[in-house]
Amino acid sequence: MEDKIKIGVSRCLLGENVRYDGGHKRDHFITDTLGKYLEFIPVCPEVECGLGVPREAMHLEGDPTDLRLVTNRTQIDHTDRMKTWARRRITELEKHELCGFIFKSGSPSSGMERVKIYGDKGEPVKTGVGLFAREFMVRFPLLPVEDEGRLHDPQVRENFIERIFALKRWREVRAQKARLEPLIKFHTSHKYLILSHSRKHYQKMGQWVARSEPLPLKERFDTYQDLLLEALRIKTTPKKHTDVLMHMMGFFKKGLSSDEKQELLEIINHYKQGLIPLIVPVTLLLHYVRKYNQPYLKNQTYLEPHPLELKLRNHV
Ligand code: SF4
Repeated sequence: MEDKIKIGVSRCLLGENVRYDGGHKRDHFITDTLGKYLEFIPVCPEVECGLGVPREAMHLEGDPTDLRLVTNRTQIDHTDRMKTWARRRITELEKHELCGFIFKSGSPSSGMERVKIYGDKGEPVKTGVGLFAREFMVRFPLLPVEDEGRLHDPQVRENFIERIFALKRWREVRAQKARLEPLIKFHTSHKYLILSHSRKHYQKMGQWVARSEPLPLKERFDTYQDLLLEALRIKTTPKKHTDVLMHMMGFFKKGLSSDEKQELLEIINHYKQGLIPLIVPVTLLLHYVRKYNQPYLKNQTYLEPHPLELKLRNHV
């Protein structure tokens, strides 16, 4: 990767004192761990739309299809102010070519799901989306987005980070403004990564890459990008990973001794049974890829889709 991956982040998660009470919600995984690889574009909708710090706390209320952002005590409605600002800010953010966004959970402005909506009576229902987050996700429906709460789940975390790294690699291919060759190369090197999410998408993407009729390059790239982002947000499962690992093992039919084959097979089965994490069979395969200089697998991003230091495949 040539430079850091740009992603948007709710400003309070970076430790800035922008919350209604003058505090912050620094998330150390984001700032200290992801910060080594990502460049953050901080966004605080409430401060940036002109509400100060400290400010009166606010909430969502009303019809779920037309939510209002209203202050708790004085009942001032900030909906129009927030929406007008959000549209302008999102147009600016477009220029950054973000690879994703990490939102602050639960916020009536920044929360991406399950935000409380208050009615006239009774308990609030947790079905809302913060006003800025909604505008953002409508503008960029396939861009990887998560909130800091969901990122505590190891599978969600791995999926999100895998997607932003893949999108960054893809953007570098697009930036070459070349014709088909880099697209074909990208598709080939991402074969097993895509297969670990969706075989159907991999086939569709292959057909799209191989279409022989002259198509505007932009159309070819845009559709490929949509399919890639759709594919990678489909969950992987131990079964899908096992299929990929077995397929990769097939490249060593001749190279490995029977003991080595037996050991690899056992390790893949242990992974399938949930006894060991994915990193174990992947590390052993990578070892053989290097030892026997397997040229096709050497270029497969599946084996190293994100930095090892993030330990994303170390959970069972
Ligand atoms: S949740 Fe959003 S609006 Fe609230 S302080 Fe954080 S960034 Fe600002």
